Amino acid sequence: MPTLPKFVSDMIIPFIKKGTVTNIQYHSKHFKTVSFKSDSLKNIRFKAGWEIEFSVSDTDMRHYTISAYDKKNGIVEVLFYLHQKGPGSFWASNLNINDKVHFMGPGKKISLDEQASSLVFTGDETTIGLYLMMQQRSRPNQQVSGAIEIQKEWNNVIDEFGLKLTTLSRTDNRGEALVNWLDENISSNDKSVFYLTGHAKTIQTTRAVLKSKNIASSKIITRPYWADGKTGL
Ligand SMILES: Cc1cc2nc3c(=O)[nH]c(=O)nc-3n(C[C@H](O)[C@H](O)[C@H](O)COP(=O)(O)OP(=O)(O)OC[C@H]3O[C@@H](n4cnc5c(N)ncnc54)[C@H](O)[C@@H]3O)c2cc1C
Repeated sequence: MPTLPKFVSDMIIPFIKKGTVTNIQYHSKHFKTVSFKSDSLKNIRFKAGWEIEFSVSDTDMRHYTISAYDKKNGIVEVLFYLHQKGPGSFWASNLNINDKVHFMGPGKKISLDEQASSLVFTGDETTIGLYLMMQQRSRPNQQVSGAIEIQKEWNNVIDEFGLKLTTLSRTDNRGEALVNWLDENISSNDKSVFYLTGHAKTIQTTRAVLKSKNIASSKIITRPYWADGKTGL
């Protein structure tokens, strides 16, 4: 529900929860981790990969992923990539401590496969929070690998998050670095469970690489986070 007519946004008011910004950490001017506290978030069922939908204006809702969860205190963290191209990004940029926020969820579209012996994650700036959560919640005997494709000048920032994935510098052709990485690092019939998230078109091209290596569709989990020229997803 990216953009809602006013009467619809009025109808969903009973489902909307309230929270407060309790902490903010900037990683550079493009990445910001924000903590949100709410009684409605205390002791709830939650799995790595679950998402939350914030009201970012009177009529716009935007999805974000929980990158850390403190069950006892009802606090979630979200790592925002501030691309500054839409109301969600502007809203996140302007958040300050003690601000009141409205949200729905958290809800599940994808979640961590706790049975897989090997997990491979690929994505972009918007999916770092997702993979931080998945890395944290993976079992000690699960092998975690993968790659994040980002703007070249932000490589150092990624190191700061402690994500155990390879950082790839984006070329002029978005997704190309990830395609090449999968091509070089994944062998045919690999039995890992793959998570492809982030830019919609990149998910299509990287999925095609995996299919060409005989990876079963059931082992490829996809979740587009944004698409060129499209509002919200
Ligand atoms: C389930 C889910 C979980 C998500 N989790 C996160 C998260 O944890 N952290 C996070 O930062 N984002 C996350 N996103 C992505 C975020 O919701 C989108 O980037 C969203 O478009 C932001 O809304 P906006 O109002 O800023 O831009 P919109 O109004 O939606 O889009 C405006 C323009 O910006 C472009 N755009 C959107 N995203 C990007 C981008 N990353 N790079 C370049 N151009 C872009 C669009 O193509 C469009 O042209 C998630 C999305 C989904 C669906």
